[in-house]
Amino acid sequence: MEQKKCPSCSWVNSDTFNFCPNCGKRLKKVPPSTSISIQLGIYLISLLFPPWGLVSAFKYLFQKEEKAKVVGMVALILTIASLGFSMWLATQLLASPFFNQMMTQVDQLQRIGY
Ligand SMILES: [Zn+2]
Repeated sequence: MEQKKCPSCSWVNSDTFNFCPNCGKRLKKVPPSTSISIQLGIYLISLLFPPWGLVSAFKYLFQKEEKAKVVGMVALILTIASLGFSMWLATQLLASPFFNQMMTQVDQLQRIGY
């Protein structure tokens, strides 16, 4: 069994301890929560704000816990789906007659001298 000295009081602890039993200092990072409300929050962020969703997706993907990895994986898939949809929407907009009309108008304005 590995041993680890507490950075706060130098008490020698087992490496498996999350908190120092002598002074109560946190020895390990507590793994991120995988509660339903946290999951929903992450999925929602992944869908609405893809870049931020990616951050939490990777945070969860690199956890040891199987459940946290699944959360990270779902968040990653949602982020990619959301990005794909945004790109599809952008191409649809660029190909739409409305956009062409707008560009023609801008072109005409430029010819007049604006
Ligand atoms: Zn301590």
